[in-house]
Amino acid sequence: MASKAFSLFSFTVSFLLLPLLSRATSPLPSFEFLVDLQGYQKGDKVRNVSDLRRYFRHFGYLKPIHSNNTTQLANDDYFDDEVEAAIKTYQLNYDLNVTGVLDAKTVSKMMVPRCGVADIINGTTWMRAGKKTNRPGQGSFHTVSHYSFFPSTTAKWPASKYHLTYGFLPGTTAIATSPVARAFSTWAANTHFTFSRAWDHTIADLRISFHRRDHGDGNPFDGAGGVLGHSFAPTDGRFHFDADERWTDGANPGEFDIESMALHEIGHLLGLGHSSVEGAIMYPSLSAGVTKLRLHEDDIEGIRALYNTTRPEKQCSCMSYTAVVLTTANQRVDLVGRHCKNATAYS
Ligand SMILES: [Zn+2]
Ligand SMILES: [Zn+2]
Repeated sequence: MASKAFSLFSFTVSFLLLPLLSRATSPLPSFEFLVDLQGYQKGDKVRNVSDLRRYFRHFGYLKPIHSNNTTQLANDDYFDDEVEAAIKTYQLNYDLNVTGVLDAKTVSKMMVPRCGVADIINGTTWMRAGKKTNRPGQGSFHTVSHYSFFPSTTAKWPASKYHLTYGFLPGTTAIATSPVARAFSTWAANTHFTFSRAWDHTIADLRISFHRRDHGDGNPFDGAGGVLGHSFAPTDGRFHFDADERWTDGANPGEFDIESMALHEIGHLLGLGHSSVEGAIMYPSLSAGVTKLRLHEDDIEGIRALYNTTRPEKQCSCMSYTAVVLTTANQRVDLVGRHCKNATAYS
């Protein structure tokens, strides 16, 4: 599986440090504009098609626009072949009928609040649209995984770096610390990684913080709703929540669950891209009032394929633990992870 998965993502361009987020040319509009676009299709001219283009550019379905390209700017209001193709790819990724028309189901799916990381990076199609599939009646059928990686096999942590520290930047709401710690525990229980909290965030491998609007990384947040957060590919380590959302710990109506969001973004921090499996943690959308607290088999298969590891439980007797220790530099560290009798399980 690993070699097959990697063969799908071998590229001529390699990056030593690949940010997950391409630099946005302008802030993403609130997703509400999509309501007015329902029913439109190729050939229509509608004012809000320019917002639709921005939406698709942000999530990788259209190429970035260049401000000096006057032809491209003049055509920005037309629902043309390019927009139709973007809709079709989106529909394929999200398991919708591939019509190229902004039907009710497509608009409804596009309006669900989601992670700000693009579904497609550098024009390389991820998720379902990037996979070879065998369907019943069209040859042999087998289960196809829908996880994805970033378009560079270097976008992962080195094999020796299986223990990662995480820290919260000053100003992080206290309500976030416990659910984020639980999310790290869940990943630790299902992968070869272990995690511990670094009380000095400046030395942490992974750094968690809350920001509003433009916060200096070229990907401004959009206020309440829409994009909920984003993070960067290994080994950058930045994980940003949109501070304008109503965050909560649990399933509360109208609010977004921190632990569910953290599980998703940690997947990015470890090197996973988005998945088209709706039950997977790496599925891009997260609705208010719901929790998603377990890794899906698709998530686990993805991380195992990326790091060429086997499920630790199959190789050793492992035990979850939490502990507080002092380092030689007298820094307090909370350890959350697994103790395994057979250390080769981490290799
Ligand atoms: Zn994401
Ligand atoms: Zn950010």
